Amino acid sequence: MSNRNQIEALTIEQRVACQSDIDVLTCSICLSLMTAPVKQCTVGHNGCGSCMDEVASTIGTCPQCRIPISNGRLLRSTDVNKILLSLKIHCVNHFIYDRESNKWEKNSKGCPVITTVEKSDNHQSTCKYNLVKCPFQGCNVNLFENEMASHIAQCQYQEKIPCPFGPNGTKPEVDQHIRNLLSNHIRINQERMEDIFFDLHQQITTSIELSLEINRNVFSNFLF
Ligand SMILES: [Zn+2]
Ligand SMILES: [Zn+2]
Ligand SMILES: [Zn+2]
Ligand SMILES: [Zn+2]
Ligand SMILES: [Zn+2]
Repeated sequence: MSNRNQIEALTIEQRVACQSDIDVLTCSICLSLMTAPVKQCTVGHNGCGSCMDEVASTIGTCPQCRIPISNGRLLRSTDVNKILLSLKIHCVNHFIYDRESNKWEKNSKGCPVITTVEKSDNHQSTCKYNLVKCPFQGCNVNLFENEMASHIAQCQYQEKIPCPFGPNGTKPEVDQHIRNLLSNHIRINQERMEDIFFDLHQQITTSIELSLEINRNVFSNFLF
């Protein structure tokens, strides 16, 4: 019995985009998509390297033509190995694991990108459908990268920021708070500005008076 908590790894075979590609690349020994390095008998029958090695060391003949394959008579199948690398497969994020059936299922909302086996790692490192964790402490939400921005905007765990004149809250909370009490905030803001202008005015007046006094003193020295 399989462990229900254990997720079976998604195989290349499950990701193949075109079913007919699998038929010609099925190993006659394990009946799965051949895995590199593929090896062949001298007639040209192919199989996974591991399957062919196993048969060579036990039965000793090709399962398809019965030609001897033991003692180093297997060849590396360069062409098939190349074909395996150019096989077209879905992005891993095209699939979602269904915990009910314990199977990988295609996800219509998943990544639509199809690449070759060779280029799939490259794509995956920049795939917009990689699941990312919400960056805020305490939030356990995992989402596609391209859905994260809208989650972050209303995540309850986001960092608290202060209203310029009042209590802390998340950005949406503070925005809402300011909107609800808009006239208060405008008035307080105006009063602050008036205070600042009053102070500035005082400072300027004082410094003008000061310089006038200096001038008066200087002139009085000259005149008298
Ligand atoms: Zn095999
Ligand atoms: Zn053969
Ligand atoms: Zn992708
Ligand atoms: Zn969050
Ligand atoms: Zn406020």
